Amino acid sequence: MRDISERVKKEELETILYNISNAALTIEDFVEFGYFIRKELHKIIDTSNFYIALYNEKTDSFHAPVIVDEIESTSDFPADKSLTGYVLKSKKSMLFTNESHAKLVESGKVGLIGSDSAIWVGVPLKAQDKIFGVIVVQSYNNTEAYNEKDLILLEFVADQISTAILRKNIENELKIALAKAQESDRLKSSFLANMSHEIRTPMNGIIGFSELFLNPELSYAERKEYAKIVINSSKRLLSIVNDILDISKIEAGVVKLNYENVNINELLYDLETFYAPKAQRNNLELICVKGLKNTESNIKIDKTKLNQVITNLVSNAFKFTNKGSIEFGYELVDGYLRFYVKDTGVGIDEKQHDVIFDRFIQVDEDYSKQSKGTGLGLAISKRFVELFKGEIWLNSSKEGTTIFFTIPYTKVQKSIITSVIDKKPKIVKSNIEIPILVAEDEEYNLLYINELFSKTNYKIVEAVNGLEAVEMANKHPEIKLILMDIKMPIMNGIEAMKEIKQTQPNIPIIALSAFAMESDKENALANGFDGYVSKPIDKKLLFNLIEEFTS
Ligand code: ADP
Repeated sequence: MRDISERVKKEELETILYNISNAALTIEDFVEFGYFIRKELHKIIDTSNFYIALYNEKTDSFHAPVIVDEIESTSDFPADKSLTGYVLKSKKSMLFTNESHAKLVESGKVGLIGSDSAIWVGVPLKAQDKIFGVIVVQSYNNTEAYNEKDLILLEFVADQISTAILRKNIENELKIALAKAQESDRLKSSFLANMSHEIRTPMNGIIGFSELFLNPELSYAERKEYAKIVINSSKRLLSIVNDILDISKIEAGVVKLNYENVNINELLYDLETFYAPKAQRNNLELICVKGLKNTESNIKIDKTKLNQVITNLVSNAFKFTNKGSIEFGYELVDGYLRFYVKDTGVGIDEKQHDVIFDRFIQVDEDYSKQSKGTGLGLAISKRFVELFKGEIWLNSSKEGTTIFFTIPYTKVQKSIITSVIDKKPKIVKSNIEIPILVAEDEEYNLLYINELFSKTNYKIVEAVNGLEAVEMANKHPEIKLILMDIKMPIMNGIEAMKEIKQTQPNIPIIALSAFAMESDKENALANGFDGYVSKPIDKKLLFNLIEEFTS
């Protein structure tokens, strides 16, 4: 008889434990799970007084979301001096009879709180080594309601509660991770769609209007107009490619800063001069505020990137401002130069303020409206400013937007103001020809360079690979300067340059390269080139450089 009843009990226990562990994996609601446990346990032990109390570290108190009690009904109580608190702090399962409880009260470790129970069992709830609560059963009248074995049973239950909580946490984390992944996926898709639109628009301009060019009946004015469209579209395309390159470099962590002496006032002056005609065309007032005297405004900074940040912000201001003014400038605040670009445009919705500096974000993702950029400008600006060890933030309302950013004021003593004379291509009246060797394997590039020099007194000698360049240089000692493409078949530009330098060390060799990374320029100069021009070729820059070396 005893054997059979023992076996029945064991089977029942196994079923209960199975039900509870199953519920730990399936029941979503914690409170529901708690009451389920109580109901199951009731089949083998008395759970007329049962609670699961969760600990709040900040207030040092408990909240019991699951509680059944014949006498008490408070679900919130302080941890201090309570038996529940004692179990929590000891991190151990405990069983108290009337006597052992009385002893503990005497020792001052707990107080006499609530109704006295005949027997009390508490087991701590653990998750990732942290105790977060206690599960308790007690009886007010039966001193033998529980024994040491029940403690083990409750410990198993406590484990299941921890599992359920852990599962919930993991699920929540997964949900958050998934939502993030989906969001970034969505942003990437919208970025690609946008990018495709961004690239196609100028491409259409270039292809379409170049084809129109072929019409022999075009008037001069039409031709000029079409050429302008092709040029502007190409510039737009180039800036998109640059943006994509920049953000890729930033993400790959390969952006290097090239600190140099820069006069900020001069930089702002140049920008003001550049944007003034645009402001006039758009009927906008353009204000430029320089916060320091010229002599105080020399700092060490990466000029190209600082210029890019301000240009991004001012360009945005123009894009989103239809009337009023655009003001940009800086002031010295607490050892930092605080730049700002302020417009009276459409403003940025408050909800967007936090995300606007993330990459690919555009407030208006509606393609039916005019898309005005790639959504990368602010992301690039933010990363550059952070590289400068500064901060960027914004203030925006319906009245307009101000974007601020700071950079440390690392003053340079020496005045480095130089008056920049805008050099024009040298079109010398005299008949003296200056021979230049151009090594370039791309036919169109060569054609373009020939065209560039066609009305000047520079005479082009061509080479289509590095080896030919070396031969030509030897054959024509009268050559005054060499423009050398870096990537060429048979012999690359670097090798060719080195060979030529061995026999003619004084001939200036300028690298021409489509690798537009900052590091490429450094590499080229380190390799021994005398100058560097990136492609697409900036006409003015190229002529300035040539003139420098040949005059
Ligand atoms: P985009 O290349 O699209 O201009 P940005 O990163 O520079 O990319 O800007 C992201 C978005 O932030 C813009 O599409 C625009 O919605 C909003 N924005 C940026 N600057 C301004 C501004 N001055 N006024 C209003 N909205 C702006």
